Amino acid sequence: MTNHLNPRLALSIATILVATALAGCAREGKDPNGTQASVHADLAFHNGAIYTVNGARSWAESIAIDDGRIIYVGNDAGAKEYIGPQTRVVDLKGRMVLPGMQDAHIHPILGGIEANGCDLNAANTVDEYIAIIKKYADEHPHQPWIKGGGWSMAAFGPGALARKELIDAVVPDRPVILMSRDGHTTWVNSLALEVAGITSDTPDPADGRIDRDPKTGEPSGSLQEGAGVLVADKAPPDTDAIRDAGLRYAVKMLNAYGITGIQDASVYEEDLKTYHRLDAAGELSLHVVASIWWEREPGLEQIEAIKKLRSNYTKGRVDASTVKIMQDGVLENYTGVVLEPYRLKGQQDVHGIPMIEPELLQQAVTKLDAEGFQVHFHAIGDGAVRQALDAVEAARTANGELGRRHHISHLQLIHPDDQPRFRRLNVIANFQPLWAYADDYVTELTLPFISEQAATYMYPIGSMERGGAIVAFGSDWSVSTANPFEQIETAVTRMGSLGETDEPFMPEERIGLPEALAAFTINAAYTNRNEQDTGSLEVGKLANLAVLDRNLFDIPATEISETKVLLTLFEGKPVHGRPDEL
Ligand SMILES: [Zn+2]
Repeated sequence: MTNHLNPRLALSIATILVATALAGCAREGKDPNGTQASVHADLAFHNGAIYTVNGARSWAESIAIDDGRIIYVGNDAGAKEYIGPQTRVVDLKGRMVLPGMQDAHIHPILGGIEANGCDLNAANTVDEYIAIIKKYADEHPHQPWIKGGGWSMAAFGPGALARKELIDAVVPDRPVILMSRDGHTTWVNSLALEVAGITSDTPDPADGRIDRDPKTGEPSGSLQEGAGVLVADKAPPDTDAIRDAGLRYAVKMLNAYGITGIQDASVYEEDLKTYHRLDAAGELSLHVVASIWWEREPGLEQIEAIKKLRSNYTKGRVDASTVKIMQDGVLENYTGVVLEPYRLKGQQDVHGIPMIEPELLQQAVTKLDAEGFQVHFHAIGDGAVRQALDAVEAARTANGELGRRHHISHLQLIHPDDQPRFRRLNVIANFQPLWAYADDYVTELTLPFISEQAATYMYPIGSMERGGAIVAFGSDWSVSTANPFEQIETAVTRMGSLGETDEPFMPEERIGLPEALAAFTINAAYTNRNEQDTGSLEVGKLANLAVLDRNLFDIPATEISETKVLLTLFEGKPVHGRPDEL
């Protein structure tokens, strides 16, 4: 045994204490006889299968809500005293209710802009991409640039590049810039390269690569990581109206999935402004933790500007006390930082590209930790994960445990030596569970190129869970679907949620349904520093909840992805569906 208190246990104790204190406030009105008078709810649900995700993971039948907060959770009989003449009472007809879910890693504004632009997410082949690009260009003849994204590297086949000529054939006369689904590669046409002045003489930037034709050395049309910025910087910026429309799209979509809280995985000041415009208009029906992007070029001196952003924009439903540090790229283009070199023909010693020198990373995280920031790392390869943990350890040594809840996203490879360090250092393991099955990205673009040892610890969600780490989930939308039910299904089956595979990938890394639900509710709320108000259905917390069309515990795991949300409440108000239509 260790003398560490199980973090999840500590969390639930804290939750109970807070809930009890708040429950006292909600009911403190006394009648003239001196006895406690109950507050009557404005909205009450009964006859449900309410999965509370409280410390005991108990179920309830009824929930009563007043002024946006939960004033009762329990059985139907006990709910009666909260129901008065003004209470709207809704029969759940046995349906399952979950706390409003939270996505701990998502790109809502970018994703929404992409969905409203030239959106390739629904297509899967190069021919389909080209057809969509042509159709979009034809339908938007006055747009000076064609912008969009959502294409997949896997569609081009192993080792093949997304080439400029494919787009030139349908749009030769306007620049076209299309971000890949995973956000790491930019696909452009010849005119876009020309406008950006990229030729065979242009050197690769420090944080990326200009893909080139192996015979001629000409830029071939795909730009890896930071090289994409060379073109993106030349494109007209998105107007406020475009940005607002993108966020509006995302909020609506997320509410429809039962999501009421998010962590935006990379924001700039213009994103913070976008959130506040929607919040001021009463349209931001989400709690937002915004991760401020850490620039690769300036070093520690950027912390002053980040502090200014935090103080200017942490208000309303937005909390800008997180900093996002992207420490590596991805394995599919060999930019993910790995401990053992990639197995590449003719190239030895390729270990990926660390975005921040490990020494500087330790200094940055130590300073950010001391200044009250949570650090949200992007780390895919086992080398980047180790560098991130080393940085948190350095901060811990210098500052002590300040409770900042640093977390690492993606975690495709975690060396077994590093797995226990998450719990020891209180680092949250933020997985994107939809990726944890044997799709083409894994079988064709990754497994053949990483070391044999690394291939044995891919997306080790079960190991991390069993080892006592706090596991939170996020979608990384628009990289992958934001539908939490598809992600939960893959977490519990390790298979494609839409029937893409029928063999579980590393089945020992499956987790149970209660653990998967916790990762999207209480643990994601903990990651978002908001578990005192959200993440479970308990007295005193905000009435953020989702009513489902089926009970997830009563169906085969392979049907979880088909779940629909009938009603979502945010702070007690319907933001998707209607209570009278249940
Ligand atoms: Zn991301």
